[in-house]
Amino acid sequence: MPSRNLTQLSSTWLKHISRFNLAILLLLYVTSLHIIGLYTFTKGYLLTRSSISTVSPPYTLDNPAPIPATHSKAVILVIDALRTDFISPHYPHPKSSHHHGILTLPAELSKSRPDHSIIFNAYADPPTSSMQRLKALVTGSLPTFIDVGSNFASPAIDEDSIISQLVAHNKSVWFMGDDTWTSLFPDSFDQLYPYDSFNVEDLHTVDNGVVEHIFPSLHPDNSSKWDVLIGHFLGVDHVGHRVGPHRDVMQKKLYQMDGVLRDVVDKLDDDTLLVVLGDHGMDQKGNHGGDSALETSAGMWIYSKGKPLTTTLHSDPALATARRTSTFPGSTTANRHIDQIDITPTISMMLGVPIPFNNLGSIIPECFSDISKLETATRANSEQIQRYINACGNAQVGRFLEPAWAKAADIPTSKPAESINAHREASLLALGRFRSLWAEFSLPFISLGLAILGLSLPTLWALYTGVKNNSTTWDLYARLALETAMMSGLVVGGAFGLITMIISTSFTFGLQIFLATFALSTEITLVLPLLFNTPRPSLAAFTIERAIGPMIVILHSVSFASNSFIDWEDRIVIFFFATIMLVYIVKAPTSPTAAMRWKIAGLATLAAILVRLVGSITVCREGQLPSCRNTFFAGLTPTAPVWVLVSFVPLATQLPRMVGYVLGLSRSNAGPAPTYLSIVLRSALTLNSLYWLFEWLESFEGLNADRIPLVGIIKLWIARASFVVLLLALPYKWITSSLCIEIKRDTAQVESDGAVTVFGFANAFGSTYMLFYLIPFAMVHLVSYPTAQITLSALLIAHMAYIELIDTRRDAIVMRRSFANSAQPGAFDASSATSVIVRPSFSDIVPLVLMGFTGFFATGHQAVLTSIQWKSAFVGFESVTYPFSPLFVILNAFGPLALSALFIPLLSTWNISPRPQSTIPILGHTLQLTLAFVMYHTALTFASAFMAAWHRRHLMAWTIFAPRFMLGGIMLVVVDLSVLVAVGVGLRITSWKVWKTFKCESI
Ligand SMILES: [Zn+2]
Ligand SMILES: [Zn+2]
Repeated sequence: MPSRNLTQLSSTWLKHISRFNLAILLLLYVTSLHIIGLYTFTKGYLLTRSSISTVSPPYTLDNPAPIPATHSKAVILVIDALRTDFISPHYPHPKSSHHHGILTLPAELSKSRPDHSIIFNAYADPPTSSMQRLKALVTGSLPTFIDVGSNFASPAIDEDSIISQLVAHNKSVWFMGDDTWTSLFPDSFDQLYPYDSFNVEDLHTVDNGVVEHIFPSLHPDNSSKWDVLIGHFLGVDHVGHRVGPHRDVMQKKLYQMDGVLRDVVDKLDDDTLLVVLGDHGMDQKGNHGGDSALETSAGMWIYSKGKPLTTTLHSDPALATARRTSTFPGSTTANRHIDQIDITPTISMMLGVPIPFNNLGSIIPECFSDISKLETATRANSEQIQRYINACGNAQVGRFLEPAWAKAADIPTSKPAESINAHREASLLALGRFRSLWAEFSLPFISLGLAILGLSLPTLWALYTGVKNNSTTWDLYARLALETAMMSGLVVGGAFGLITMIISTSFTFGLQIFLATFALSTEITLVLPLLFNTPRPSLAAFTIERAIGPMIVILHSVSFASNSFIDWEDRIVIFFFATIMLVYIVKAPTSPTAAMRWKIAGLATLAAILVRLVGSITVCREGQLPSCRNTFFAGLTPTAPVWVLVSFVPLATQLPRMVGYVLGLSRSNAGPAPTYLSIVLRSALTLNSLYWLFEWLESFEGLNADRIPLVGIIKLWIARASFVVLLLALPYKWITSSLCIEIKRDTAQVESDGAVTVFGFANAFGSTYMLFYLIPFAMVHLVSYPTAQITLSALLIAHMAYIELIDTRRDAIVMRRSFANSAQPGAFDASSATSVIVRPSFSDIVPLVLMGFTGFFATGHQAVLTSIQWKSAFVGFESVTYPFSPLFVILNAFGPLALSALFIPLLSTWNISPRPQSTIPILGHTLQLTLAFVMYHTALTFASAFMAAWHRRHLMAWTIFAPRFMLGGIMLVVVDLSVLVAVGVGLRITSWKVWKTFKCESI
C-alpha cells in the first residue's frame, strides 16, 4: 500500500466523514459487492423452467375432444403429506402401529373392486414442498428450485392449468381447505372455504373446516351445483411437522381421515370420480422438502364408484411396459408406480377438457377401459407434449426426441398396444430430458456472478492489508480507496449500463449490467495495486499461529469440491477448531510466565472440549446415515431428549451468573452489570426457556386434553413477556446505564492523598460491549428449541474462554517484546507494556467463524431445507404473523452465525484499558478483524457457488451442492449485516460511553 503518499493525496467528498461512518461505508460497500455477486450468480443458476403462457385451445365443435369424457364430475381430495405406505397394503415391515394399516379404505376397495379402485405410488418431483407440488399438479409440469422460498408469499398461477381449463369450459369448481389454493387461484372457484395453512401447531382447524363443508356439498341438493370439488386436508402434514409419524396423534389423524373417506365414498354418486392423493410424503421425523425416497413417495388412490375404471387392461401383457412398479423402502411387494403429474393429463381427458399446455405428465393407462380410447388419449397427450417442446424453442430437446416421435407416428391406430407403448415412451423421454434440464443455466450470468464474488476476495484482502498497514491512519487509506473505487465504478458501470440500455431498450437489463460492471470495476481498481505492491512473503516471518488461520480457510473452501465433505461439514468444523486450539496448547510453553502458560493451555483445552461436546448435538443429514445418531431430538419425534428437558431451564437461570463470573475476572462485574445480568437478562432467559417447556407440555401425551388450551395461552404470554424484556428492558437498560466500573477509595490511605481505585477500568470497553452482545444473544435464545438453547449457552462460555485466551496471548506478546526492547537484558520495561496494543492477526478470527458454524449445526440445522425449524415461527403468536414469523425462522437458523459475527469487537476490546484524554486504535483493529471474518465467509460462499456451478449436472447437484450454495449465500448476507450492527451500533455506542467518562477516542 502506498502509505507514504496518503497524506498528500487529500480526499474530497469523504473528507468530513467520521471514522465510524467511514468504517460503516466500507462495510456497506463490501455488502453491496456480495449482494450484486450473489444476485447475478443466482439469476444464471437458479433459473425458472420455461413456462409458456400459451393456453391449450378449448374444445369446441370445430375442435372436438379426442375422446368423450369418462366422468362428468370429480372429487379431488388432497391429504397433505399422505405417504404411499399410509394407504398401500404393501407397507414396510416391521409395520408401525401409528401409520400402517389404519387408513385402510383404499386397500379394502382395491381388493374387493379391483376394476374400480387402484392405489399408486406417485413420485413427487423434489423440492417436495406443498406449494411446488400443487403448482406441478395443476399444470402438469416440473417444479423449480427457486420457488421453494416463495412459501411465505405465494404468487398466483398465470400459466395454463387444469383449473383454468375447467373454468374455461364453464365447469363449476368448489374448493375447501388449505388456503394456498386460493392464493394460487384467486378468482377461479365458484364456492370456497379457505383456512390458514401455515399454522403448523394447529392440527384440526383445516380438517374440521373441510369436513364441515364437504358433506353438505355432496348432498343431492348441492351436488348438481358443482362439477369439480377440491378438498385439501392439512392435519396429517401438521402432525408430521409437530410430532412426527410415530405418535398416537398420527394414528388418530389417519383414523379420522379413513372415516371421512368412508363417508365420502358412501355419499358419492355414480358419475363422480374420486381421487385421493398426498402432495408429497414425509421423512422419518415428519418433515419434507427434499428428495429422499420417503419424501417423494406420495400416495394416490383413484376410485370410480359407478362404471369401472379399467377392465382387461389390468392384465394385458401387451401393455406390460406401460405399467411401471416400485417398491416402498422396507417393503417386499411392489406398488403400481406413476409420476405424480400423470394425474393432470389423466383427469383432463377423463373430464373432457384439454390437457394444460405445459404438461409433461403421461396418461395413466388403467384409467381408460377401452383400449382404442386409451390409444387416442395417449396420442393426444404425446402431441400436446410435442407442441409444448416446439413452443419452448429448445431445438436440442426437439432433435433428441425426433426419432421417438417419428417411430410412434409410424404405428397405425390398428395396433393400439404398440402405439400406446411408443407414444408413452416418447413422453417419458421428454419428461426425463426436462428433469435433467429443469434448471436452465445461463453461463454468462453464472460466470459474471462468480467473477464478482471471486474478485471480492482479493478486494477484501486489499482493504484488510490497507487498514492493517496504515495503522492509526487507516481512515486516510479508506477514504482514498473508497473514493477511487466509486469513481471508476460509476464511470465504467454507468457507461456500460447506458450502452446496454440503449441497445437492448430494456431498463432492467441496463440496470443489471450497470450493477455488475460497477462492482467489477471497483474491485479491479482496488485489487490492481496489490499486483505491484505486495511484499513477498518471507519465511522468517512464518509462524504456525499466523499460518494456521489462512490454511484452514483454504482447506474449508476446497472441501466443498466433494459431496461427502459437504455431508460431514459439521464434523469438519469441529476438527478445524480443535486443530487451532492444539496449536495454542503446543505453543503455550513459549509464553514468558508460568501463569500465562497454564492459562493459555487451560483456556484452549476448555474451548476445545466445549466445542467438541456441543458438536455432539446434531441432526443427521441423509448422506451421514447410517453412521450418525440424531441427538438434537429424542428418537424419531421432534421433541427434545430428556436430559435437555430437565436441564435447560436451570441452565438459563444460571447463565447470567457465569457471564458475571467472567466479567469479575477483570473486576468489571461492577456498576450496572450485576443488575443487568442477574435481574434483566436472567428474567429474559428464564422466560425463553419456560416458553419452550410449555411448548413441550402442550404436545406431551400425559397431559389432560382439557388443559391443552390453557397451556397454549400460558406459553403465548410467556413469549410476549419475553418480547417486552428483550426489545424494551434490555436495550433501554444498556443504553442508559454507565460503564461497568466502580470507583473505590482506599480507606486505609484516606489521610494520605486519597488513593482511588477504579474497578473495571481495564476492561471498560469489553464489559460494556459484552452487555450489548447479550441482547441479540437473548433474542436468538428465545427462538431456539430447548436443545439449541443449551448449545447457545455452552458456546457463549466457549466464546468467553476464547477472548480470555486471546487476551492472555496478547499480554504474553507485549511482555516478550518489553523484555526484548528494554535496555538491560531480562529487565521488564513496564511503561512500554501499557502503551503498546498488539495488532490482531488474521488467525484470531478463524476460531470465531468455526464456532459460528458449530452453532449453526449444533442447533439442529444442516445445509438441507428439511432442517428448517418451523415451530420458531409461532413464538408469541397463534398464527403466522408478518413480518415476525419469517424473521423468527431466519433468526432461528442463522442466529448462531450472526452471534459469532457480533462477537468480533470483543476480540479487539477485551481487557484493553481506555487511555484518558487520548486515542485508542480499537476501531481500526475491529475493522481489520471484521474484514478478515467476512473474507473467510466470502471464500466459503465463493467456493460453494463455484462448486454448485461446476457440478450443475451432477447427480447430487440439487441435494448437496445447490443447497450448500444457497446456505452460503444467505450466510454471507447475514454476516455482512451482523458486522454492520456490531460496528455501527454496538461498538459505536460503547465507544461513545467510554468517551463520555474518560475522554478517550476510538480510532
Ligand atoms: Zn404439503
Ligand atoms: Zn408440510
